[in-house]
Amino acid sequence: MKYLDEFRDPVLARWLLDAIRRRVSRPRTIMEVCGGQTHSLLRHGLVEELAGSVELVHGPGCPVCVTPAEDIDLACRLAQRPQTMVASFGDMLRVPGNFGSLLEARMGGNVRLVYSPLEAVALAARQPQLEVVFFAVGFETTAPATALAALHAQERQVSNFSLLVSHVRVQPAMEQIAEAPGHSIEGFLAAGHVCTVAGFASYLPFVERYGMPVVVTGFEPVDLLWGILECVRQIESGQARVANCYGRSVRRDGNAQALDLVEQVYEICDRPWRGLGVIPRGGLRLRPEFAALDARQRFASCHVSVTSPAPAHPPTECAQECRAGEVLAGRLRPDACPAFGTRCTPEAPLGAPMVSAEGACAAYYRYRLAGTAGSSA
Ligand code: SF4
Repeated sequence: MKYLDEFRDPVLARWLLDAIRRRVSRPRTIMEVCGGQTHSLLRHGLVEELAGSVELVHGPGCPVCVTPAEDIDLACRLAQRPQTMVASFGDMLRVPGNFGSLLEARMGGNVRLVYSPLEAVALAARQPQLEVVFFAVGFETTAPATALAALHAQERQVSNFSLLVSHVRVQPAMEQIAEAPGHSIEGFLAAGHVCTVAGFASYLPFVERYGMPVVVTGFEPVDLLWGILECVRQIESGQARVANCYGRSVRRDGNAQALDLVEQVYEICDRPWRGLGVIPRGGLRLRPEFAALDARQRFASCHVSVTSPAPAHPPTECAQECRAGEVLAGRLRPDACPAFGTRCTPEAPLGAPMVSAEGACAAYYRYRLAGTAGSSA
């Protein structure tokens, strides 16, 4: 705990806050890409502390939030297929698709919460009469674990296991935000856990192309404030570099073993993101040599519809009212959404950002409305 406590030190946090305030010549706008960082900034009261000096725009880095509704619909259809189980992480079960969530598809379907993709492979090995589909979502951080599950299933010939892959890549989404006309973002905080896998050097071409600083940061208050100070320093001096403020976890070239796993199993593809449309090179799909493990291909021949609803589920309201796309692109603060805190709450969410543990709407609800914010500074 001592080690982490150092990154929560209120004296150091106060010093960094003062340094940031002194350094800005006018209010600066910085996007933190990762939903985990959004939660930490709100939990520790840093968004308020920085008001007037730095506006923090919340980015699309919540993997559950950006999973397209159509993929959730397909997962629900698969869960209701005879002798088929869909397994995924807890957050994913509650996120609504167009016709309901996986949790709702449990009624008449087979849905299982698992803590790792390998657990889903083990389930399949134990129950050969069952088709077990793992709903593989997430950024570069989770892709190595699902790649390992694919290799494990292939090696052990677990032929009743497959993957419904909905992995996304964070950098193409940042490119789309950087290219959007009229945006006011002057620098990015990149997510430390993604860079732990991918390495900070992966951002060098981005910085060169867009002329904005990218600062890799962690998740504790001191990590975040240190990253913001570095970003502000660069902006104020007209520089644009990649800086690593999370050196205790991130290396220049990332985790070679994890990257190798991903490279073996996946290839880059265009991918629809919820609310953001199709992002070129924005996702991963299984390589052709893993086609036997691809649930999209395996069940296409079983006439599983990806467009029609499960009969028991009428279209949900979220498709009409939820403004998740604007929230995820940093164009709308969650508390500016008309449904926030009234028609949309964590107990009755209209959209994914209110469901996920990393969702920006859930963060605003928890730390602004429910009043659980604390200050570390
Ligand atoms: S507050 Fe609810 S309805 Fe509004 S954008 Fe967030 S999730 Fe969607």
